[in-house]
Amino acid sequence: MKPFIYDLTYEDWQEWVRANKEPGFRAGQIFDWLYVKRIGSFEEMTNLPKGLRDKLAEQFVFVTLTEVARHESKDGTVKFLFELQDKNAIETVIMKHNYGNSVCVTTQVGCRVGCTFCASTLGGLKRDLAPGEIIAQVVTAQKLLDASGERVSSIVIMGIGEPFENYDAMMKFLKVMIHEKGLNIGQRHITVSTSGIVPNIYRFADEDTQINLAISIHAPNDALRSKLMPVNRRFPFADLIEACKYYVEKTGRRLTFEYALMGGVNDKPEHAEELAKVLKENIPLCHVNLIPVNFVVERDYVRTERDDIFTFQRILERNKINATIRREHGSDIAAACGQLRAKHMESGKR
Ligand code: SF4
Repeated sequence: MKPFIYDLTYEDWQEWVRANKEPGFRAGQIFDWLYVKRIGSFEEMTNLPKGLRDKLAEQFVFVTLTEVARHESKDGTVKFLFELQDKNAIETVIMKHNYGNSVCVTTQVGCRVGCTFCASTLGGLKRDLAPGEIIAQVVTAQKLLDASGERVSSIVIMGIGEPFENYDAMMKFLKVMIHEKGLNIGQRHITVSTSGIVPNIYRFADEDTQINLAISIHAPNDALRSKLMPVNRRFPFADLIEACKYYVEKTGRRLTFEYALMGGVNDKPEHAEELAKVLKENIPLCHVNLIPVNFVVERDYVRTERDDIFTFQRILERNKINATIRREHGSDIAAACGQLRAKHMESGKR
């Protein structure tokens, strides 16, 4: 199959036009058609010579994301189930905040990481997404927002999949998103979230970007984390903390820890005390995002009581660890990662 037209970064296009003996400014023109004018066919690139348009059509294809389902929440969150060319399904979410629109993207079809509280991993990993398939999610979201004159102002890579297991595609995606000739999303408005693929935390720290990193920690110690997240057996808690220390030292950036609270499992005051101690001693430049876990039908977890969520937060703050409780988006439309796709797979499609 031909590569997707969105697979190339600006630098890749510069190389491509050079290799195809076209003038250098063509790279900017192609990028402009794709990301500023957001056209959907080669014929629409009217300022390119016909020969060049034909060459592009011979070598590339556009990504088609077919909308299979759209669920709109009362709070403005819109969750999409898109079908890819090969009929696999992925999810993309647009969230409305008072500071703008944020898009949550998927990086893999399914996931092999196996977090026990997550619906995305139920059918395992089917395949990685190509960079163009990740980019197409944001372009599609932006096209929808164009109708009301709004723009995508931030991106979170927290949809289906482990982005650090599809690292090169994720980096290409990021390069296109932040490029000033393209969608030009501010680096500080993008967050990548990982379950803790340690070698790639080091790699990301060395990338020299301003993009935010979030670590899904979800437990304050090795034993409990291994129970909740099998990835912890591959990359133990102590190694994860070391990698996080390196990231903060290398980048000088504040690290976010995601902590999904599960009733009676990891939400007791002693868990909060233990987490506070680890972070205070190792990574004081951090922020903890407490997430009351969404009920996943296929799993046993229940929500933490409201008072217990506040107690957990207070314990962290008393220990000088900045902590917030994540505002829930679209809980009335199964907006937690993978729930819509899981329902779709159940219904006999993919
Ligand atoms: S939480 Fe993320 S890393 Fe863990 S199984 Fe789900 S998609 Fe994969």
